[in-house]
Amino acid sequence: MTTRRQFVKEGLLTSAGLLLATESFSSFTVLQKPKVIIIGAGFSGLAAAYQLHKRGIDVLVLEARNRVGGRVFTYTMDAKEKLNVELGGEWISKAQKRILSLCDELGLLLQDNLLQAHLLYKNQYFKPYEWGVSPEWQKKIAKLKMDFADLRPEDQLEMDKLDWWRYLLNNGCDGRDLDIQNLVDSIDFGESIRQVSAYTALHHFTTVAERKELPYKIVGGNGKLAEAIADKIGREKIKLNYRVQKIEQGGRVKITCTNGEVFEADKIICSAPTQAMKTIEWLPKLPVDKMDAINELQYSRVNKNLMLFSNRFWKDERFDMVTDSTAHFIYHGSKDQKSVKGVLISYAAGDKADVISKQNETGRMVLMQQALLPAFGNIKPLLEKQFNYYWGDDEFSKGSYAIYRPGQWFRIRPVLQKPFINTYFAGEHIAELQASMEGAVVTGEEAAAMI
Ligand SMILES: Cc1cc2nc3c(=O)[nH]c(=O)nc-3n(C[C@H](O)[C@H](O)[C@H](O)COP(=O)(O)OP(=O)(O)OC[C@H]3O[C@@H](n4cnc5c(N)ncnc54)[C@H](O)[C@@H]3O)c2cc1C
Repeated sequence: MTTRRQFVKEGLLTSAGLLLATESFSSFTVLQKPKVIIIGAGFSGLAAAYQLHKRGIDVLVLEARNRVGGRVFTYTMDAKEKLNVELGGEWISKAQKRILSLCDELGLLLQDNLLQAHLLYKNQYFKPYEWGVSPEWQKKIAKLKMDFADLRPEDQLEMDKLDWWRYLLNNGCDGRDLDIQNLVDSIDFGESIRQVSAYTALHHFTTVAERKELPYKIVGGNGKLAEAIADKIGREKIKLNYRVQKIEQGGRVKITCTNGEVFEADKIICSAPTQAMKTIEWLPKLPVDKMDAINELQYSRVNKNLMLFSNRFWKDERFDMVTDSTAHFIYHGSKDQKSVKGVLISYAAGDKADVISKQNETGRMVLMQQALLPAFGNIKPLLEKQFNYYWGDDEFSKGSYAIYRPGQWFRIRPVLQKPFINTYFAGEHIAELQASMEGAVVTGEEAAAMI
């Protein structure tokens, strides 16, 4: 497995090699501070820009969207009531040390975002603490998680050959336990657990994502962190609605945007998701192994359907409900925000996400009602408005976050991490704590450290 330290070392070696090989680089003095362009103003791009800015390096961020934040996207569901919810990255776990530290540094307040899960399974509704996996399986999974830390590299490779569903079944998880494990875990991965490598699943659960350890979000919305970093860097250094179309690398880098504007830099950091990287014309072309990796990597499908209700009939601010219906996971998105109104969000993963996204408003309401009816009766009269966002159709990521399938983690992630001429790469898809805001920030800071 390529460790973070190895990655930094490889990057340094690659750039050192190229420094010798590239003719026009001979005029580049190491003492001179380079001009750096960063593609993308998501958490990884902004984190990179912020680090470079602190070092007094001239940075420019080019962002294709009309806003900063990328897949962290705070949305105002009711402006009058000041109800903000997250369309993208939501929970900040205690393991997200860089995010927590940046919030502290930038004076952003955190609120507890711990929810308590109800369950709808086979049309039966269960309150918190009235459901769970069997005690035997609970004991077994705890042991599997504990043993994970001691796995030898060859065992890790073996585990990475299996998907999480097969691995669980092989280890004695079956019936209701397996159903619940799939319902709950697929919320994290954005796809069925049959799609996910067993190694990456256990890695994820033993690092970022123990459900009970997901307690925070930023007061006013997670998008505030992107805004605060952008303010520190200087808004004039961030160009919105600038979509990079072509990257030409030689001694320096020439970047052409779709609006025809051209920029030059000594080095660039590309923080775009792989789908977006593919749409850029690279001259010279990206190496074959990197292109193959880009072509292989999948992003999971998450659909968020927001429902604004005239009152919080679910009563508990910490309400959430895992269901085996199409709505999948329903949770209180406006927790602790002052208003009698409230927003429930359906977070559906994989095929379920796809199905919901294809419905019209009425169709979506029927699916939501189906999930809420056994617990709350007919809630339709309380519904004021819905808003739907399907990440599977997002123009730049074509998915919510990268999903490493069996056999991919150790093989293609190091290839995606490798710098190419004057370009360094960042983004959640290459992070150790992959699929998280923390992972995005860490890769951005690592890329900045290589410059
Ligand atoms: C539905 C959902 C739920 C999530 N839940 C959580 C959670 O609870 N906790 C958690 O920690 N994480 C969560 N995440 C993951 C987290 O949001 C992401 O890992 C992180 O935001 C990714 O940041 P990034 O910088 O790698 O990529 P992005 O945010 O995608 O940033 C890349 C930027 O590059 C821009 N770009 C692309 N192409 C170009 C181009 N050609 N020119 C210029 N700009 C370009 C894009 O517009 C984008 O702004 C969730 C994500 C989603 C979608």
